[in-house]
Amino acid sequence: MLESLKKMFSGNEGDMPVNTGSKPDISREKSKELYEKAKTYFPGGVNSPVRAFKSVYGTPLFIQKGDGCFVWDADGNQFIDFCGSWGPLILGHNPPKVREKVIETMQNGMSFGAPTALENELAELIIKNNKHVEKIRFTSSGTEAVMSAIRLARGYTRRDKILKFEGCYHGHSDSLLVKAGSGLVTFGETSSLGVPKSFAEETIVIPLNDTEALTQAFAQFKDQLAAVIIEGIPANNGLLIQDPAYIEFLQKICKDNGTLLIFDEVITGFRLGFEGAAGYYNAKPDIVTYGKILGGGLPVGMYGASAEIMGHISPDGGVYQAGTLSGNPVAMSAGIAQLTELLKSGFYKELNAKATEFAEGIQRFATARSYKFKVFHVGSIFWFAFTDKDKIQCAEDIDPASMEKFKVMHRELLNRGIYLGPSGYEVGFVSAAHTKIELEKAKRAILEALDIVFRK
Ligand SMILES: *Cc1c(COP(=O)(O)O)cnc(C)c1O
Repeated sequence: MLESLKKMFSGNEGDMPVNTGSKPDISREKSKELYEKAKTYFPGGVNSPVRAFKSVYGTPLFIQKGDGCFVWDADGNQFIDFCGSWGPLILGHNPPKVREKVIETMQNGMSFGAPTALENELAELIIKNNKHVEKIRFTSSGTEAVMSAIRLARGYTRRDKILKFEGCYHGHSDSLLVKAGSGLVTFGETSSLGVPKSFAEETIVIPLNDTEALTQAFAQFKDQLAAVIIEGIPANNGLLIQDPAYIEFLQKICKDNGTLLIFDEVITGFRLGFEGAAGYYNAKPDIVTYGKILGGGLPVGMYGASAEIMGHISPDGGVYQAGTLSGNPVAMSAGIAQLTELLKSGFYKELNAKATEFAEGIQRFATARSYKFKVFHVGSIFWFAFTDKDKIQCAEDIDPASMEKFKVMHRELLNRGIYLGPSGYEVGFVSAAHTKIELEKAKRAILEALDIVFRK
């Protein structure tokens, strides 16, 4: 036993750490002061709800700057960051190549509301290297991209209903702020006040990874479903990695019923590989949506499909969609600079290998200690789950009570200079800027935090 344990620990984990004890809380004086001010200006003191630290200890940290894999808060605390602005920063914070291109473009102005060559340049980078899109349209956020993709699917099929999955997030447009009602296949219930019940009735919600529910939904709403929308790999409510067979089934049932399959790749696009989850599964979605990484940290979204389907978008077709700042030159420049780096040979191989080693090292330690803890990971996305299940593939499999453990872990990690998104339902991201040294440091802090979480 001892020998096998030693073997497990050989290399990275060593025989450390052993219950080093909680560290004192970091100073948050400046952040607290800013937060009090912010609360007088913004609901909850924030401009997007998850930033408010409602499910972890303390007040939100106000970030002052980022560089590489690090961020610094207003009190001068330094953190190794695994939030990466919720996914866009695959090259880390403030990469010189992106910054320089943005500054160069800004010398000539910020917005024209007329076409620029930069839009062509970014579109060409994407279309030449992605077999899933022949034509695209840029938007200014992921929400907008998904909302427009749904409208396109409805316009193209002349059908009204859409189907989504419990545990997938697709931005905050009305049709998609809908959760499952009771029963296997039901009309959705609104998950936000302000969404009309009649809208929710056009959205069917079923569990992930459940072929029976899919079959039943298609039987029940025969010839009514315009689209099925799924996150390429669901990564907004834990990391719910679907089996390839399920994705295949999904494609087939959509095809057989004349329903368009939308892959919402706002997180997974350019993250799992240049072709995102569609590339990962070798799937053929009819419409794809991208955001986050696409804009290199500036606000950009996009949807794309075959030229035939995209021909339905105005001004070519009858589906209206527009944007004052769509294709903004500064944002396009950030996208061009970032995607150019991603296309360099070996980029994903190196990043994914680094992230895998990080995730597996943490898992080896937790397993050796018999902790009820799993690191689910794919590509450079990881998720810490306090569970003993080997697979978590639908929202229902996540135990809400386990989030108490995440809360303790989050605090211990902040106090050790590690920044994770402030919710146990959120995934973390390894970027190209995380060096092996920083990942080793982070791993050590995570192991220490786990020892504290599971301290008897
Ligand atoms: C982040 C996200 C969105 C929404 O994008 P915003 O830019 O926040 O509007 C939509 N879908 C998925 C899968 C996302 O991860």
